[in-house]
Amino acid sequence: MPEMVLLGDEAVAMGALHAGISAAYAYPGTPSTEITEFLIQNSKKNNGPSAHWCANEKTAYEAALGVSFAGRRSLVSMKHVGLNVAADPFMNSAIVSIHGGLVLVVADDPGMHSSQNEQDSRYFADFARIVCLEPTNQQEAYEMAREAFDISERFHIPVMIRLVTRLAHSRSVVQLSEPRTENKLEKAPEPNSWILLPSNARNQWHGLLDTYKEMQQYSEESSFNPLTLNSTFTDYAVITTGLAKNYYLENVPDLNEQPSHLHISAYPFPAEKIRSLASSAKKILILEEGYPFVERFLRGILPNGMEIIGKESGEVPAEGELNPDNIRPALGLESRTGSPHPDMPLSNRPPQLCPGCPHADSFNALKMALSGYGKSMVTSDIGCYTLAALPPYSAIETTVNMGASIGMAKGASDAGYFPAVAVIGDSTFLHSGVSPLIDAVAHNTNMTLVILDNETTGMTGGQPTILPSSRLEKVVLGIGVEPEHVKLIEAHRKFDEENSKVIKQEIEYNGLSVIIAVRECVETAKRHKREGGQS
Ligand code: SF4
Repeated sequence: MPEMVLLGDEAVAMGALHAGISAAYAYPGTPSTEITEFLIQNSKKNNGPSAHWCANEKTAYEAALGVSFAGRRSLVSMKHVGLNVAADPFMNSAIVSIHGGLVLVVADDPGMHSSQNEQDSRYFADFARIVCLEPTNQQEAYEMAREAFDISERFHIPVMIRLVTRLAHSRSVVQLSEPRTENKLEKAPEPNSWILLPSNARNQWHGLLDTYKEMQQYSEESSFNPLTLNSTFTDYAVITTGLAKNYYLENVPDLNEQPSHLHISAYPFPAEKIRSLASSAKKILILEEGYPFVERFLRGILPNGMEIIGKESGEVPAEGELNPDNIRPALGLESRTGSPHPDMPLSNRPPQLCPGCPHADSFNALKMALSGYGKSMVTSDIGCYTLAALPPYSAIETTVNMGASIGMAKGASDAGYFPAVAVIGDSTFLHSGVSPLIDAVAHNTNMTLVILDNETTGMTGGQPTILPSSRLEKVVLGIGVEPEHVKLIEAHRKFDEENSKVIKQEIEYNGLSVIIAVRECVETAKRHKREGGQS
């Protein structure tokens, strides 16, 4: 079989293809987007397996569950905060008897390169009592994706693959192996195991707890968790997880003695291996990307008095990403801060909206509309338009989670704040904004919603919005917003004056109004032009 140079994301996608998936689902989110981009391109080229963008991570997960129920293998991928959205089907899917293999890839973002937080998805896997695999490199990402489907079908559970940004977005050579064919289309044999009525759910939960013991055994025996003991050096032993192994290995040549080492890439924890390692040294250093997950667990299983050092004890940085330099002090090595770079004055370049971005024109019009009010509140959401929090716009005041802008403006209005304006992109609106808008319709909340319809998911590279622009207004009307207070404007600077008047008029309306500001993202428009399509 050939070798390929692949991103970590692409290696997972290729592993899933070679594991015989029939379908893949996702909502775009950095650093996971390239998994589905790769699968969509593959699907166009090879006429399958199908790969789809979905309205949000929850609907993506539910579609993958349907494939599994029908007996086939499916992949669902998302960024870490997306799993919060998909948490309901995810947690419950652990206790249905997964039929066709179901693999969830979650890409965490330690260092918050493009995210609101640093949450560590390994907690979710532990919470649901399922297997989690955490690749160290692109080759493992490929192999683990293949193995994950086998584990899923062996234990009848969803299996999580946890990536981190630096692995998801870096390339390496991957040796491929023989592809497997897809499963037969055959419904789950015990449909009751999928009906989570309390009486069934109790049985299923009991079954999962029994199976968990087998998962622990799998983890003890897994070659993804190698243990190397050195009985001649007992000062300390090292545990690494996932990507942190690479940073540790980079420092090993500088150590006088090589400590005993356990690498963990498969969870549940290999508790026996951890105990063997602990008996070989006086203390244990833990290097893991993300939260102090292993470190906390160890405090519960190792003998009292065993010294454990890591993020909680302060020897390893508790926030941001690890790297070969910032773990050196914990290994007793001299600090190093990377190679000096030439004295080159670099100007500060904060992120900005692209020149000609339609959002910029919408914010100009909004600011003009709000200029006559002594105070106002503008809640916002997640997308390119979040950059309007920065100068020169300084036009929005909140960005918490997908869809929160609408509920927050409603709450502020309920509390008596006026004017309360929510700003959300078209893709984010369809992801998580429809439900809070229904709340606002139900109470005819005195607020104004501005939907910035740039006809794409701009921030993640221009994936198509799940419904075309032409159908957005129908969705808003279908929810029940009064037709006379649904206004379409063109987000262009030549209409700033006119648009600000429309916004002001709707702010003055004592009830709910929705303004849809339409103009295609300039980057997507350029791409469409290059591809010869419509812009
Ligand atoms: S990618 Fe598109 S939506 Fe995002 S800032 Fe650039 S022009 Fe605006």
